[in-house]
Amino acid sequence: MAEPAPRPSALSGPQKALRKLGLLRAIDLALHLPLRYEDQTRITPLAQAQPGQALQIEGTVCSTEVRSGGRRQLQVLLDDGSGRCTLLFFHFSGAQQKALAPGVRIRARGELRSGLFGPTLLHPQWQRAEGELPQTLTPVYPASAGLPQAYLRRAVVGALERADLSETVPALAWADCPGLQPEPERLAAAPQGSLRAALHCLHQPPPGVALDSLEQRTHPAWVRLKAEELLAQQLAQWQARRERMLRLAPALPPRPEGLAAQLQAALPFALTAAQVRVGAEIAADLARSTPMHRLLQGDVGSGKTVVAALAAAHAIDAGWQCALMAPTEILAEQHFGKLVGWLAPLLAPQGLCVAWLTGSQGKAERAAMLEAVQRGTAALVVGTHAVIGEQVRFARLGLALIDEQHRFGVAQRLALREKNADCEPHLLMMSATPIPRTLAMSHFADLDVSTLDELPPGRSPILTKLLGAHRRDELLERLRAQLVQGRQAYWVCPLIEESEALDLRNAQATAAELEAALAGSKGPDGAPLQVGLLHARLPVAEKKAVMARFCAGQIGVLVSTTVIEVGVDVPNATLMVIEHAERFGLSQLHQLRGRVGRGAAASVCVLLYAPGENGRLSETALLRLRALAETHDGFEIARRDLEIRGPGEFLGARQSGLPLLRFADLAHDAPLLEWARTWAPRLLAEQPQAAQAHIERWLGAKSDFHKA
Ligand code: ADP
Ligand code: MG
Repeated sequence: MAEPAPRPSALSGPQKALRKLGLLRAIDLALHLPLRYEDQTRITPLAQAQPGQALQIEGTVCSTEVRSGGRRQLQVLLDDGSGRCTLLFFHFSGAQQKALAPGVRIRARGELRSGLFGPTLLHPQWQRAEGELPQTLTPVYPASAGLPQAYLRRAVVGALERADLSETVPALAWADCPGLQPEPERLAAAPQGSLRAALHCLHQPPPGVALDSLEQRTHPAWVRLKAEELLAQQLAQWQARRERMLRLAPALPPRPEGLAAQLQAALPFALTAAQVRVGAEIAADLARSTPMHRLLQGDVGSGKTVVAALAAAHAIDAGWQCALMAPTEILAEQHFGKLVGWLAPLLAPQGLCVAWLTGSQGKAERAAMLEAVQRGTAALVVGTHAVIGEQVRFARLGLALIDEQHRFGVAQRLALREKNADCEPHLLMMSATPIPRTLAMSHFADLDVSTLDELPPGRSPILTKLLGAHRRDELLERLRAQLVQGRQAYWVCPLIEESEALDLRNAQATAAELEAALAGSKGPDGAPLQVGLLHARLPVAEKKAVMARFCAGQIGVLVSTTVIEVGVDVPNATLMVIEHAERFGLSQLHQLRGRVGRGAAASVCVLLYAPGENGRLSETALLRLRALAETHDGFEIARRDLEIRGPGEFLGARQSGLPLLRFADLAHDAPLLEWARTWAPRLLAEQPQAAQAHIERWLGAKSDFHKA
């Protein structure tokens, strides 16, 4: 199946465009499936045409005229013997005008409208009426600039001839595949019975095929392709799992009276049942000598940090080091501050310490930390990406904990893996955005998942309110009332995607506005109410100082861009205001909301929305926000986010390197996914070569990503 790719320098424009789309091999082109089809097989006489109908007409040009009163336009009058129709072009070249000279016979396609000049086709596709009509529907492919459809069509036709389309999946598996089910005995003869037949059917649909079933991707040929794609994805991940099982990690069996037990005894609370269960799942993984690859997911506030601390304790107890990584410095501190506070006192008597590694730290401090890590006296190494920096040498890294895993990429996970010469550390990833089940099954099949599905007791429910921006004054009054009572609040400023500068200006203006509104009011201690400002541009030291003052209760309201998105834990904060809530993803809003309701007092989350240009928030935007207000179940919210925004959000798509599904759709193809999940391990065991060929065919060079 291997086929050399052409040298880049020798490529034409369209060839380069093909490359950019990842269409390198013949098989890649063969698997590049149409978005939709045009029907050029039929000519509709104008006398029978209806307004609104998409059609193709054939006729002779009677007149061609450029009009320039008002908008410049080319008007071409066409006569097909049964009637007349105007073709209208607003963009046209001199050459086009010439080609449409009176007397020329052409075919034109478009949607018929009743216009000022009678029946009209606006900007129709057209060509000279030459040769026979095509026998099959004409495919329209996903393309890009510099890649004409006609070129792509020829390339696909050629590729279908050249590509190796031999079967890689046994008939037995197909006979079991939902959607191809009704007549398994006829399967071999049916068009979807072979990959070749299915591809021909999709690229060159025979006349009479139900266009609907093609465009909605319910036709058996589509089902077949989607099933193949899902199977490739499952095979690649099963294979990655098998390879992982062959690698070596240190076995870290729990010690009965060890550090973990001491930690648990020292905690000011009892673990929830969910924490106990998940802790046991992780401990069982750690006791094995194959590397753990586990995701710990749980809603905001479900108590992941304790579970992580217990895992770290197991590793340290067994004489190994544990690394903790968070995507930003402030998160590292917020997330792990508690954990370090719990563990450090238990480590000290053993002569062990905690090392911090961050990008902003001074040279001397860093050198001392690096040495402790290398000597092994640092049992716990906490920080940002700096933890996997090249100069960081671990004496014996046994466990790596990654918080907010979706913000790290494949390269970083690989770097962690290579931190030990002879064995691989166990890996525990944490996420507060629960992954919907179908997504876990498809994209994260090589990941064991533990879920904290229970919140610690004593949390007060959060009331979520939607508020139009015009009620801002009321809100400011409410904020003042809270702060005067000694409560604290967050005020999150809108996300302005392209411009950090604008974000900043906005946050600054808001802080000034709040200061003005609160001027003259005092807290219960008699001190004036303070407004804090936190944004991405602040130097790390200043961010930390602001956070520290907020945690200590010296700042009443913290105005912030989304840097507080995760990890902050201030139980006295009872009001969360999110401006322009309509610009945030649901899961993100849910995360933000989770910053309040951490203490016993009742908390409120206000979603401020600004009406659009027409003075109203769109119906769908409002529905989304209402849905959020009504549910507190992170899974349900994640499922809706998946529906609305696709899997990219969950995967951190760009850096995860996971190949996204091109054809299968998790919302509709769950039965096919189940099928692929059942068959992948069987095929790998029974027909490893065919399975390998299948992965190669579908994922090509991308299959390496699964191994990270
Ligand atoms: P997250 O899952 O969002 O990371 P945290 O680990 O930060 O949640 O926990 C949220 C808060 O709940 C912390 O203050 C933590 O100390 C507390 N907590 C964790 N587990 C329990 C428990 N079993 N009982 C009471 N409080 C707990
Ligand atoms: Mg956390």
